[in-house]
Amino acid sequence: MSLRRSIYKSPAQMRLMLAPGLATAASLDAARAAIRAGATTLEIDVAAEDAILALGGQPNFKLEQGYHHTVCASVNDDVVHGIPGRRILAAGDLVSIDSGAILDGWNGDAAFSFVIPDPTRPELVAERQKLSAVTEQSLWHGIARLAVARHLNEVGEAIEDYVEAQGQYGILTDYVGHGIGRSMHEAPPVFNYRVRQKGPDVKPGLVVAIEPMVVLGSIETYVRDDDWTVATSDGLAAAHWEHSVAVHKDGIWVLTAEDGGAAGLAPLGIIPMPIQ
Ligand code: MG
Repeated sequence: MSLRRSIYKSPAQMRLMLAPGLATAASLDAARAAIRAGATTLEIDVAAEDAILALGGQPNFKLEQGYHHTVCASVNDDVVHGIPGRRILAAGDLVSIDSGAILDGWNGDAAFSFVIPDPTRPELVAERQKLSAVTEQSLWHGIARLAVARHLNEVGEAIEDYVEAQGQYGILTDYVGHGIGRSMHEAPPVFNYRVRQKGPDVKPGLVVAIEPMVVLGSIETYVRDDDWTVATSDGLAAAHWEHSVAVHKDGIWVLTAEDGGAAGLAPLGIIPMPIQ
């Protein structure tokens, strides 16, 4: 017996995570619609916040000590934790938006990357789009593995195997995914790469945020002078995709996707199942 809270949730608790998951998804849809050359990252933040409030949620990033925004907006060589502000987005920028909502005490957390079109620099855009696509697909491979895994750290194996097969990319090791529930960040850690330990059993009640961060160059990072923004040391671009995913008795359900992840998982032979 342990007095620590179990990492496994009940079906009723997982059903309570559907609403914050969908509010998180809506905020990312709104953010995506606001991304264009000439927009500030603060405009994207406001769009995301409005979407969460409209669904009765609150931005949970604002509950983090010292953080005052709905999203993190990380551009080009910024990997994660970029603070929205007056920065004006430009054609060709690779923009990563991470957002989360809390509703009735339960949390969602998800992220995507997007490259703003730039017809004058097709090679740069193609390189960054491929980076984002590789990162997104590595996420889906990780989620698909979760659906069949015995131990959680198989997720990182799947992500690493997929990324390695795509070419010269690096997977960040300074930051990892996490359990999610009443807190946005809970045990257990979710590695995006192979580790020696097997990790906890994958069984009904496990709810995790899987969030690979993939770079074009070195995986070395530093934190900028704002004390938040994580940037690549070599200045090369990074991408970040994330979903919150529940394991339940009938299968898995991606809480931060309106279709439960059906579209992303279909090519990998996994059919998400609603939480009963
Ligand atoms: Mg997260």
